[in-house]
Amino acid sequence: MNFSFGKYKGKPVAWVVIEDPDYISWFIRQEMKHRKEYGFAIEIIKRFDEIPFSNASCCARYHCQNPVEYLCLYDLEYSGENWVCDYCDPWSLWVRENKLTTVNKYEETIGLRNRAKIIKAFARAKGLPERITEKVVREFFEY
Ligand SMILES: [Zn+2]
Repeated sequence: MNFSFGKYKGKPVAWVVIEDPDYISWFIRQEMKHRKEYGFAIEIIKRFDEIPFSNASCCARYHCQNPVEYLCLYDLEYSGENWVCDYCDPWSLWVRENKLTTVNKYEETIGLRNRAKIIKAFARAKGLPERITEKVVREFFEY
């Protein structure tokens, strides 16, 4: 489904979900429930959140083979591919533990600095390529 209005008119909703998360979250906050894009965007985000971070590996322990559950942020910002599983201690990654946060859901990242980078890292870890074309998102989200 493509946007039928606004700044991304003609662009696939799923593409905008990855490329401009702030726009999508703004759009959702407007609660334009009469727009078919509204429910679709929520559905795409739900599907995105359900896909595991299979392309990432846990950084907290050498050769940890457990599935990754979270991206670690330093000072509420993206600070590289610092992934952690559910069993390792993310606080082992940095000394200043009060600066550490973990995120793993799309809407959890609202308002964070460099949010686009965080969502891009999520996308890569979930198996999307670096360059996200309309075809890529359609195949990825199977629609
Ligand atoms: Zn681990």
